[in-house]
Amino acid sequence: MIGRWRAELRDAALEAEFRREQLEANADWVGRDAVVGALVYSSFGITDVFALGWTATALGLVALRLGFLGFVLWVRASVRRGPSLLLDAPVAVGVQALALAIMLVVTTARSAEAATNHLSFTLLMLALFVIVPDRLVRVAATTTLAIVGYVLVGLAVYDMDASERATHVMTLVGFGAVGVMAAGQHHRVRREEFLVLREQRRTNALLVDEVERREALESELQWLADHDPLTGVPNRRALLRLAEQAASAARASASHMGVLVIDADHFKDVNDRFGHGIGDLALQRIASVCQSTLRLGDAIGRTGGEEFVVVLPATDLDQSKAMAVRLRDAVAATDPRDGVPALSISVGVATFDPRHDMLEDVVQRADRAMYAAKGAGRGTVECAVDCPSES
Ligand code: GH3
Ligand code: MG
Ligand code: MG
Repeated sequence: MIGRWRAELRDAALEAEFRREQLEANADWVGRDAVVGALVYSSFGITDVFALGWTATALGLVALRLGFLGFVLWVRASVRRGPSLLLDAPVAVGVQALALAIMLVVTTARSAEAATNHLSFTLLMLALFVIVPDRLVRVAATTTLAIVGYVLVGLAVYDMDASERATHVMTLVGFGAVGVMAAGQHHRVRREEFLVLREQRRTNALLVDEVERREALESELQWLADHDPLTGVPNRRALLRLAEQAASAARASASHMGVLVIDADHFKDVNDRFGHGIGDLALQRIASVCQSTLRLGDAIGRTGGEEFVVVLPATDLDQSKAMAVRLRDAVAATDPRDGVPALSISVGVATFDPRHDMLEDVVQRADRAMYAAKGAGRGTVECAVDCPSES
């Protein structure tokens, strides 16, 4: 994955992603380290004055060094404004080239101090390995060019014998090689770290997706446990639970509660004549018409094939019956459409008296009343014996 020599990711897109991701952090530390380096570098101006006295040459060298410091400060400010500048080869190469050019000028001006220049040049070279982020090839190339340039200038200006020259060149090459190896290892480790983090992020994202999927599934299951999937209204179990809660509230407030049992009329015929699909649509229509006719706080549930139960909290006999009539009329008034024919329902009404009733008994009474409504010709409302018959 990571090139042996270049210490970069073999996949170009991945390498670009790595560099982009490191940009902000790199801009931060490269800027800081470059300024520290430039400060050290310019403070070497003192040695120019010591070596050459207060001469025009010495002051010229000091001015060059300070100019370099100014340039680095400017680069730092620019990189802070736009870190992507770090990706631009001209900027990075410009800083290095300028430092090396000044070094060559210093070497020429202070040609009597070969040993000191040698040490300073080595220092500068090592600083490049620290300051150039994540680009081994770039830093290796500039270092090689710098060594060649320095050696050529040295050949011209230093008064050395062959053995001294060879030692000079070999130590530079040695430092350069160590620098490249150390930087290469560092660059490789940074990329390995990036790959591990990336993989971790990918796994985390998958995990988050899976958790979200399961949560969605869970809420769907939860919904399915309480609802009838065809009509969307509560199923038998959920409706009876709601009815129990309403009964408790009725007991607590000593109020009546209406219970209606609704059964679609001749529904077998609807299926036989129009097909099961239309039958399903008809059931959805009955549920939605009833739901939109009921008041806030009333509840309807599908308790069987074409049978629904309605709970009417805080509702007495007359009001319950009135509501049953409203439901029957609303269903009967629904225009036939989408292939669904005119529909009718029969409704049985009973009321829950909190003083002595059990919920099951009331539901049974409402059920019997519904059968009475069937017997009375269908499309009718009948009350259990505890309430007056339909008017
Ligand atoms: P009645 O007026 O006496 O109630 O007659 P009915 O035909 O409605 O009563 P019956 O009990 O004979 O038939 C009920 C029909 O309801 C039979 C069954 O196929 C149909 N049914 C029950 N559940 C569904 C459903 O989910 N979809 C459809 N399309 N039909 C259903
Ligand atoms: Mg029926
Ligand atoms: Mg039935």
